Amino acid sequence: MEFDIVSLIYSWRVEDARKRIEKKLENEIYVTDLIYCPLKYYFQRIYKEIALAEGFNPVTIYGEAVHIGIEEVLKRIFGSDNVKTEVEFEKEFGVEGKVFIVRGRVDAIVGNYIIEIKSGRSDANIPHQHHVLQARLYLWLTGLKKAILLYITPNRVSQYIVTEPSSDGEVSDLIRSLLMRSPAPRYNWECLHCSYAILCPSKRTSAV
Ligand code: SF4
Repeated sequence: MEFDIVSLIYSWRVEDARKRIEKKLENEIYVTDLIYCPLKYYFQRIYKEIALAEGFNPVTIYGEAVHIGIEEVLKRIFGSDNVKTEVEFEKEFGVEGKVFIVRGRVDAIVGNYIIEIKSGRSDANIPHQHHVLQARLYLWLTGLKKAILLYITPNRVSQYIVTEPSSDGEVSDLIRSLLMRSPAPRYNWECLHCSYAILCPSKRTSAV
């Protein structure tokens, strides 16, 4: 029997991405939408095939494998009854007279700690500003008091504790920035790694 693991991984990733994109409601915002360039939030609805292809990006697959592995390691260390993984939270939040559903999926919860796993090609400049913001948004969303950003990179395994939740005002500002599609990009380096750079009029061609 022909046994093609690559095509199975392809189907798994693309189907996963398809479900995520198709089930997304018009007023639904993921925490990850708030930490990156706001234009991506719109492009993923218009250019769905590009969003789907992102699911099979090797960097994304590598990151997913690290997540699954570390979540399993946490269960072995703490016992599977003491670790919740891929926990979904949501909160309704009004901005400019409209109610949005802010949704986030936390990698793991152990005791009162959120654990957010980050894989990367390098340990340069960790913890990254947008990861700290993500952890702060998770604290806001969950009501938990502490988050650990756990970096697994080829050069370093390191953790950073985040204790300051985002305020309602910050979340409002982030949602407003999504509605205004500005600033695009949010960080100078984003366009270098963005799947929509092939058609985006706001693409930065220099990282400075
Ligand atoms: S290319 Fe840059 S500005 Fe355009 S969507 Fe991507 S990150 Fe945003």
